[in-house]
Amino acid sequence: MEIACLDLEGVLVPEIWIEFAKVTGIEELKATTRDIPDYDVLMKQRLRILEENGLGLNEIQEVIAKLKPLDGAPEFVDWLRERFQVIILSDTFYEFSQPLMRQLGFPTLLCHRLQVNEDGKVADYTLRQKDPKRQSVLALKTLYYRVIAAGDSYNDTTMLGEADAGILFHAPQNVIDEFPQFPAVHNYEDLKKAFIAASNRDLAL
Ligand SMILES: [Mg+2]
Repeated sequence: MEIACLDLEGVLVPEIWIEFAKVTGIEELKATTRDIPDYDVLMKQRLRILEENGLGLNEIQEVIAKLKPLDGAPEFVDWLRERFQVIILSDTFYEFSQPLMRQLGFPTLLCHRLQVNEDGKVADYTLRQKDPKRQSVLALKTLYYRVIAAGDSYNDTTMLGEADAGILFHAPQNVIDEFPQFPAVHNYEDLKKAFIAASNRDLAL
C-alpha cells in the first residue's frame, strides 16, 4: 500500500501566520519558512513579536476560526483518501489546527504543540522531534509503506527527498529552482495527476 503525506499550510490551507499578520497589521509576522528556512529562528521571532504586542493564543485562535481551506482543498483531500492512506505532516500546532482540520474531515495530522501560560500568552513551543516531516516518512518506510509526499516550501524538502516520490505544490520559484529534482505543479488537478504518475498502482483520475 502507498501513503500520501501532505504539508498543510500553503497546500491545503492558507499560511496561518500571514493571515494573522494581515488582521493585526504586524508586517513582521508575515515571514514564513519560505523566507526564513530555519524554523527555530522563525518561531523565536514570532514569539518575540507576540510578546511585544501583548498578543496571546485567544487572539490567534479568533483569526484561525474564520479561515477556510484553499479553494478545492477539501475535495482534493477526499479524492486522495479514496486512493491513498493520507497523513498531514505539518509544522503548525495542534492549538491552531482544529477549525481547519474540521473543514478537511479530520485527516491524521502530525504536528507540534504550543506551551501556553495560564494568562493565554504563548510562552514557548515544543517541536515533536527534529526534522519531523522526514522522520515521519522514514518511520512509514520501516513499516514497508511506499510514500509519496507533496509540499510547498523549504521545510518540506527533506520530506520530499526521503519519500519514494516528492512533489512540489504551489511552491515559489526560488524553491522550484533550488530543487529541480521534484516535479512542480500549481493546481489540484495537476497534483492529482502527479500522485497518479508517482503511484506504482494503476489509478484513475
Ligand atoms: Mg507549507
